[in-house]
Amino acid sequence: MLSQAGTLLHSVTERTFTDELATLPGKVRFDESLASRTTFGVGGRAACLFSPESPLALKRAIELAAACGVPWLALGAGSNLLVADEGFSGLVLSTERLRGVALNEASLRAFAGEPLPALVNLADLAGCQSLNFLAGIPGSFGGAIAMNAGIPGRAIGDVVEELAVFLPDGTFEVLSPKDCQFAYRSSAILERKLTIIWARLRLTDESYDREALLARRRASQPVSAKSAGCVFRNPPFLSAGRLIDAAGLKGVRVGMAKVSEQHANFIVNLGGASSAEIRSLIDIVRRKVYKSFRVWLELEIRVIEG
Ligand SMILES: Cc1cc2nc3c(=O)[nH]c(=O)nc-3n(C[C@H](O)[C@H](O)[C@H](O)COP(=O)(O)OP(=O)(O)OC[C@H]3O[C@@H](n4cnc5c(N)ncnc54)[C@H](O)[C@@H]3O)c2cc1C
Repeated sequence: MLSQAGTLLHSVTERTFTDELATLPGKVRFDESLASRTTFGVGGRAACLFSPESPLALKRAIELAAACGVPWLALGAGSNLLVADEGFSGLVLSTERLRGVALNEASLRAFAGEPLPALVNLADLAGCQSLNFLAGIPGSFGGAIAMNAGIPGRAIGDVVEELAVFLPDGTFEVLSPKDCQFAYRSSAILERKLTIIWARLRLTDESYDREALLARRRASQPVSAKSAGCVFRNPPFLSAGRLIDAAGLKGVRVGMAKVSEQHANFIVNLGGASSAEIRSLIDIVRRKVYKSFRVWLELEIRVIEG
């Protein structure tokens, strides 16, 4: 097991693990900053980060981690993550080098590491506006599908036709949308710790106005600030942002972490915030909203620790 973020690995198992990892096609880094790999810009370091260059290298890394008992997690563009200040003492598997897109009139197939905005642009340029509801959502293709990213009334899971994953032991499987149990900002992919390799989306003749959606985002969200998007899930029939605003929490700060004045469900890193400051602001927001409205807010962002 990778004992501590930032330390080199001593046990025989660890040596075998890292030696093996180094033979795989891709880039291995030790003691790698995760703050620089997340849009929040906070958090400690990963003991080891591997960016496989092929699905086979990804499979082998997963198998190795499973065989050596090394905890691991998949990393896309880090736009929905809050990494603990202590970092992650296991293996981070970045999909950044898993790239490739195929587009035809009926579908778009891409590897998990493709940036979602680039895919939306590509489809739009090719004359298909049906993916434009995803315009302005940062992230990787794989991360978007795992999170079932979207806007009110439409999410990426609605248009997934099939996807290929590795199970936690490295077994390859092709799944149907039904297998994925897509729900509001969640999926069986997260629950079952599956790793998306590629996915195929259905293109339709629906049309979303990309420019109007982007303009609405710019007007209502702190898009250029360091954040992870909406921190809390909307409770059934309610808006988390409106509850936070009504509880008088806009602008509340802990250190360099602040509840956005533009969109109360965003916490922004003003520069140099720690993960602990963000966590403590999250606690303040939850308690105040509960005290005011008897609603306990659930996190939409994913917290990485350990
Ligand atoms: C300014 C801003 C606006 C946003 N607006 C929206 C919005 O309107 N709607 C919305 O839904 N979200 C929004 N988000 C949140 C975020 O962009 C999405 O959740 C995004 O799809 C996450 O993708 P990612 O690649 O960054 O995932 P990451 O943050 O890297 O990871 C998120 C989760 O997915 C898992 N994961 C990543 N890649 C894979 C893979 N290949 N296989 C399996 N699991 C994987 C990770 O382990 C993690 O649990 C916003 C974020 C920001 C910063």
